[in-house]
Amino acid sequence: MDNALKKKENRTTAIVLAAGSGKRMQSNVAKQFLPIGGKPVLCYSLESFEQSDYVDEIILVAGADGLKTCEEIVERYGYTKVSAIVLGGKERYHSVWNGLCAAGAEEDSTEVNPPKYVLIHDGARPFVTEAIIQRNIEALENDKACVTAVRSKDTVKIADENGYVVSTPNRSFVWNMQTPQSFDFTLVYEAYSKLIQEEENVKAKGIVITDDAMVVETFTGVRVKLIEGSYENIKITTPEDLAYAEGLLGTKGEV
Ligand code: C5P
Repeated sequence: MDNALKKKENRTTAIVLAAGSGKRMQSNVAKQFLPIGGKPVLCYSLESFEQSDYVDEIILVAGADGLKTCEEIVERYGYTKVSAIVLGGKERYHSVWNGLCAAGAEEDSTEVNPPKYVLIHDGARPFVTEAIIQRNIEALENDKACVTAVRSKDTVKIADENGYVVSTPNRSFVWNMQTPQSFDFTLVYEAYSKLIQEEENVKAKGIVITDDAMVVETFTGVRVKLIEGSYENIKITTPEDLAYAEGLLGTKGEV
């Protein structure tokens, strides 16, 4: 069926997060806008979703400072699947919530008309591939929450606040989380809506929400399935990640 005719409830939406300030990058420019291979980091994931056979629309979440830059990027590189650019919030989970609200909103209507699936992705994670997207979408046929991850290569220690080891989880059960994190839209929308309602309680309990899976784990009984990602699917966080990303682009033959 032609995409334009496809009803929204059968659609897959990608939410790409670009509202972070990137304090750990020690740069005035937010990490998703820094250049690698001659274009902003953000372009690479937008391009993957733009070209994906599995994604119908992209919602881009921008910070107030980065809104204009995001608009310019979408315009300049011609990402036609970007249906909305919405403002993010203070924490990553606020930005996701704003993206989910935009994804569920019917244009010119107050009615909620949700997509079937939503893929939530860090705009600072440039090397998501079609194979990773495909594995997420195929897994959603069986599980409502499917999140990209890789096995931890290093032994992980749980420490106390003074830096002393408390315990050592069995490494064969330890995974490092990546994005996209993919969900049945209604499930993740409801989980996030509970988080936003109970935000103060969550904070008071000392729970720090650092990924989308955690929201589903905390507010639903639905089990979260791990999907094999890639060691190249890195998040640009600190200055040395940029050099590493340039190196990866070199090995891919892109300039
Ligand atoms: O800060 P962190 O590395 O966890 O950010 C992951 C992604 O979430 C980045 O792409 C960043 O732009 C985005 N983010 C956001 N809104 C925030 C914080 C982070 O969109 N308030």
